[in-house]
Amino acid sequence: MSLKFVLYSLFILSTTLLRSQAAYTCDSTTCVHPQCFCASTTPPGNIPIDQVPQFFVISFDDAMQQQTMQIVNTLIKGKKNPNGCPITATYFLQTDYTDFGLVTDWYAAEHEIADHTMTHPNLPGEAEITGNILALHSLSGIPKSKITGFRFPFRNYTTASLQLLSKLGFVYDSTVSAGTADMFWPYTLDNGVANECWSGICDAGLKLPGIFEFPMYNIIGDNNVAYLMDPLLGIPVDQGKQWLINSFNQHYKGGKAPFGLYLHPAQLLNQPGRPDPGPQITAYNSFIQYVLSQPNVYAVTYSQVLAWMKNPVPVSQLANHPAFKCTVPKLGTEICNGLDDNGDGNIDERLKQQCSLPTTTITTCYNCPVDTPTPANPVPKSANQNRFEVSTTCDTIYWDPVAGKCLCQDQSCAFTDLSNVGNNSGNSTGGGSGGTNNSTSGGDGSSQANSSASDAERMGIISRITIGGIIGTITFLVLGVLV
Ligand SMILES: [Zn+2]
Repeated sequence: MSLKFVLYSLFILSTTLLRSQAAYTCDSTTCVHPQCFCASTTPPGNIPIDQVPQFFVISFDDAMQQQTMQIVNTLIKGKKNPNGCPITATYFLQTDYTDFGLVTDWYAAEHEIADHTMTHPNLPGEAEITGNILALHSLSGIPKSKITGFRFPFRNYTTASLQLLSKLGFVYDSTVSAGTADMFWPYTLDNGVANECWSGICDAGLKLPGIFEFPMYNIIGDNNVAYLMDPLLGIPVDQGKQWLINSFNQHYKGGKAPFGLYLHPAQLLNQPGRPDPGPQITAYNSFIQYVLSQPNVYAVTYSQVLAWMKNPVPVSQLANHPAFKCTVPKLGTEICNGLDDNGDGNIDERLKQQCSLPTTTITTCYNCPVDTPTPANPVPKSANQNRFEVSTTCDTIYWDPVAGKCLCQDQSCAFTDLSNVGNNSGNSTGGGSGGTNNSTSGGDGSSQANSSASDAERMGIISRITIGGIIGTITFLVLGVLV
């Protein structure tokens, strides 16, 4: 607790002292929706504020495992949005230690999967970022183009690493933090980063058209101390829960910028020598219930918020917004797609394969790899070839990997995976709107550029390691196998 307090006091002090260096400007007459969004505390769409939905994003970071999913399910399962749909959340996934069969289930339940690299390194190069997408595609059956968001491990980034994300075609990054003075709605980086100006990144001349920054919003405690990831870790939970409620209300009764709860589920596991996580889990649950009990609050994924921003409607019409409907396909026969297709109460019974990898055991609807996926080899060879890779014209939930066919052919499920990550002899140039005509520098070139940048901006990086990063590091060191 004291370490956290001291570090955050220093963080707030440096924020206060250096914020005057901010150089962000944005002209809303030339930066026009839906291609370009200026950083703003005002919601898009000119909708009366009482008709603007309050979005609540819950994110989980690092490996998805049976143990971490138990925590996640305790927090979100059974909770509903005002339109009757289950609440949805976003998992910033790493490859290492992830159980790929669980990822299929998560995706099929309409939650979001975002990229958090393969091995969780500081300042990742291209292979770490795209390798995660390739591994999740081959072993979880996730269409590459559905992985559109990214968060930097340890919350460390540079201008070069943001440029790399843009080049790879990501729709959004969610790494920078926002305090009370810069509680902006997500914005595109056409005019650079508008938050964390104390670190000098506003002055870096960064201009990345079209890619969103979805800020991580601080929880403000007593004496203006800010908390970000795992906000109840190491503090009295009743006090912390009140800070969460107060901070939520600053959003809810202000410009309604999305509010976030950012958790490492591994921090909430029972671990020898660590305090009982039970009180934290109870407090988070109670807080989530409080938020969902407020009128016009929707707990949704990052991509759903961005879909609303590009096509904003009053909250009274939100239930019919295409991004907010929930649809469960009724296939009748069980296929390995992360759903209970035959209605017997079980998901993918007898269809998931168990694979023993050198470092962990995983399940998958697809072929067991002979080795752990790595940045050098994100899609290792398979021991057996009895499953078919998801087709580029079929979404996961309709794809039968045993038969190798798509069970839906009509317009309601028409889908094409346009991503070309991994399609160009290992040189990924990304898909989607962010794909550029950049030079085709290979993975090595990008990695090299990244490491040079990391040296050049070392001071910036150090000052940018906020408590979320530090706690993430500690999680990594202490729990090792779990994060
Ligand atoms: Zn992480």
